[in-house]
Amino acid sequence: MNLILMGLPGAGKGTQAERIVEKFRIPHISTGDMFRAAISEQSELGLQAKSFMDQGALVPDAVTIGIVRERLQKEDCQTGFLLDGFPRTVKQASALDELLTSLGRKVECVIHVDVPQEILMKRLTGRRICKECGSTYHLEFNPPKVAGVCNKCSGALYQRTDDNEETVNNRLEVNMKQMQPLLDYYQDAGVVKTFDGNRSIDVVFEEIAAFLGMMNR
Ligand code: AMP
Repeated sequence: MNLILMGLPGAGKGTQAERIVEKFRIPHISTGDMFRAAISEQSELGLQAKSFMDQGALVPDAVTIGIVRERLQKEDCQTGFLLDGFPRTVKQASALDELLTSLGRKVECVIHVDVPQEILMKRLTGRRICKECGSTYHLEFNPPKVAGVCNKCSGALYQRTDDNEETVNNRLEVNMKQMQPLLDYYQDAGVVKTFDGNRSIDVVFEEIAAFLGMMNR
């Protein structure tokens, strides 16, 4: 099961990733997580990645491709993997193809969780987070019992500064521009499977799991 997960911010990609790797027992390979871990360990890689990440820019392809190459050759990836946040450029996608070909493997499915931009806008701008315990709420889809107060610990709820309409719009545009060429690339290879992400987490996951279950037979 050599899988890639794609979706815009707010599409529920993180939650689906957690469930997919648990059910199919494959490693979740998130380049963003790998970079964040390297930064907190203050490793050479962390130093290289930090300045780019701080500016919200992509880490150079050579560095990113290098860490993915190393990671995919580890023992736990032999029966499959779920890539998340990689590839982000067509250059990374073709480097991944080359690497997998040299290992006698290929990308089998790109799971695309699709949610219309106006819904993502609603999901992201309505998000509220507890200052004390970090629990997340949504003004419309998952409101707290008392407005502005956490159900679990009574902490005050706040809105992330980057969850305002203008910044969210910008984030969605930038991400869409990045993702589209990759979807085109994998569409040409005939491996994209799009799931309607505008439904409950459980329903979306059931559909993904059923599809992967069939693919894996
Ligand atoms: P993420 O958690 O996937 O949003 O990634 C956080 C940051 O890590 C991004 O803004 C980039 O700076 C860097 N990053 C993660 N994945 C990649 C990638 N495939 N190519 C380049 N930079 C990446």
